[in-house]
Amino acid sequence: MTLRESLKNATKKGKKGTIMLEQPFISIVIPVHNESHVISETLDATLEVVFRLSPQYEILIVDDGSTDKTFETVCAISRTNQKIKIIRFSRNFGKEAAILAGLKFSSGKAVVVMDGDLQHPPELLPKMLHLWQQEHYQVVHGVKTSRQKEKAVKGLFVRLFYACMTLFAGYNLKQATDYKLLDRRVVDHYISLAENVRFFRGLVPWLGFSSAFISFFPENRVAGKSKWGAFALMTLAVRAICSFSSLPMQVVTLMGCVMFTASILIGMPTLFMKLSGRAVEGFTTVILLLLVIGSILMISLGIIGQYLAMIYEEIKGRPSFIIEKTENL
Ligand code: UDP
Ligand code: MG
Repeated sequence: MTLRESLKNATKKGKKGTIMLEQPFISIVIPVHNESHVISETLDATLEVVFRLSPQYEILIVDDGSTDKTFETVCAISRTNQKIKIIRFSRNFGKEAAILAGLKFSSGKAVVVMDGDLQHPPELLPKMLHLWQQEHYQVVHGVKTSRQKEKAVKGLFVRLFYACMTLFAGYNLKQATDYKLLDRRVVDHYISLAENVRFFRGLVPWLGFSSAFISFFPENRVAGKSKWGAFALMTLAVRAICSFSSLPMQVVTLMGCVMFTASILIGMPTLFMKLSGRAVEGFTTVILLLLVIGSILMISLGIIGQYLAMIYEEIKGRPSFIIEKTENL
């Protein structure tokens, strides 16, 4: 009998044969999108650790619109263990939405969010739980000791993103990951935030609460591939910066002031020359000025547009995700 099958019996049966699930002590939220190659391995490794920690657990798998066999695979597993619960989205809504859904449906006193590709080692769970239970930290952050190998261009953009995040929002998220343990109170606060565009990695430190950090070395993916292409990462970076800081928009005003001062400084002598009849043809200056002002205006409009787009998205008030079906919930 596999560990999974033996865990089936961990569910208590009521008098009339009705199933009574105990209030879970620990919930594990796993967002997955097309992880059929690795999800059963992840679940086996997680169950192995979790069951030893507490028989009162639940594992919430949020299937973020997978198009491969992920849903079928997890459904088959959930039939053997009632404590494995599945939420399936009607389409791919993104990892942030999947984390939010998992947190909303979780009921554990502590909730751990972890990736479905084994890059977040389940072996860290006992240490995380210890820090929460014995040392009363309300948030335990998994921190990467090094970044996975990435291509030079991607590495450059990633560094630029973290530099902007530190400069504009004051958060140094360079080694931060989504592998976190949150106390129920922190989860409730996270859920009750009104915003739609979320950045879990940044919002949790923003919420505050006493925090501990555990380092781990992110192994390479066992199977499957990373879901983040260059465009997706860029979008995430821009959204993250804009949702944490309005400083870029204020920089626009600053640039305007600088350009206004420059135009007065350049404009006065030009006007003087014109009035005194000594004006020379200054095409170079005109063209240069046009280029500089034009590009700054375009960038500024872009920055303002980004904020407008985010306000628009929030004001529509659409839900962050739509659930197609659930299992064991
Ligand atoms: N993921 C998701 N929805 C998405 C993209 C990713 O739920 O739209 C999940 C994915 O299945 C994995 C986790 O988020 O469990 C981390 O994704 P990935 O491994 O691709 O990111 P990386 O490790 O490269 O940062
Ligand atoms: Mg990964």
